[in-house]
Amino acid sequence: MITADFHNHTSFSSDSTAPMEGQIRQAISLGFTRLCVTDHMDRHYPNPIDKGSFELEPDAYFDSLQTLRARYRGQIELLFGIEFGLRNEPHLKEEILNFYQNLEASYPFDFIIGSTHALHGADPASAEYWESATLKDGLRDYFQSIADNASWYPCFDVYGHLDYIVRYVPAEVKDYCYEDYRERIDQALLAILNAGKGIEVNTAGLKTLSYPHPKKEILMRYRELGGEIVTVGSDAHAPEFLGYQFNRAEEYLKECGFRYYTVFKDRKPIFEKL
Ligand SMILES: [Zn+2]
Ligand SMILES: [Zn+2]
Repeated sequence: MITADFHNHTSFSSDSTAPMEGQIRQAISLGFTRLCVTDHMDRHYPNPIDKGSFELEPDAYFDSLQTLRARYRGQIELLFGIEFGLRNEPHLKEEILNFYQNLEASYPFDFIIGSTHALHGADPASAEYWESATLKDGLRDYFQSIADNASWYPCFDVYGHLDYIVRYVPAEVKDYCYEDYRERIDQALLAILNAGKGIEVNTAGLKTLSYPHPKKEILMRYRELGGEIVTVGSDAHAPEFLGYQFNRAEEYLKECGFRYYTVFKDRKPIFEKL
């Protein structure tokens, strides 16, 4: 049984109003032994006026977690996480790398997710991104961004929601054919593995798709290439989605040949039996 949610958001994220304490109480009521909050930090997020800055205030974030750690000690283990939005536009690389490495060195993070939330100066969840990209180019460039970011930025532990872009493609059927992108996906997986990092199963996909992220072919290919580190997260932005369909995530991992899921403490992986 999976008893740890390693991807979720609180009101420290621009797109959540959930108090951190509410997420913790929900995790305890689900019988979880660990919770790692991973609020958004997206340096130079391209659409700040419509959607907020997606840059949290790290001191307040850490203080809040520390206070709640003391309050809920003995009931649940609270890990300190964050989700960094990584960018593969070359002119942003140096500044973003310095910014995240400085943050990583300044706070005692247990776990860092690296994610693509923007490329070509736009959020792939926005209409703007798809205005200038065909379906094929939009998906191909997104997978390329993972390959670039995983090799450019050492400051993450797992790459987030590998194929979440499929939820936002301007097509009636929200799906894609793995074979059409196999080469780019392999580049992305190899970059992640060569950097010694992992991936996650993100159950937010199950809200609108028949599978969590990433789809089965990717997860199986990751394993085939030697991948072992897989965290599990709901990407919940509200308590009702915490631990969303984790029973399904457990089956899914087993179907793909995994016998363990991963949690992190002090940036080091710990393998828990499924
Ligand atoms: Zn994300
Ligand atoms: Zn997230």
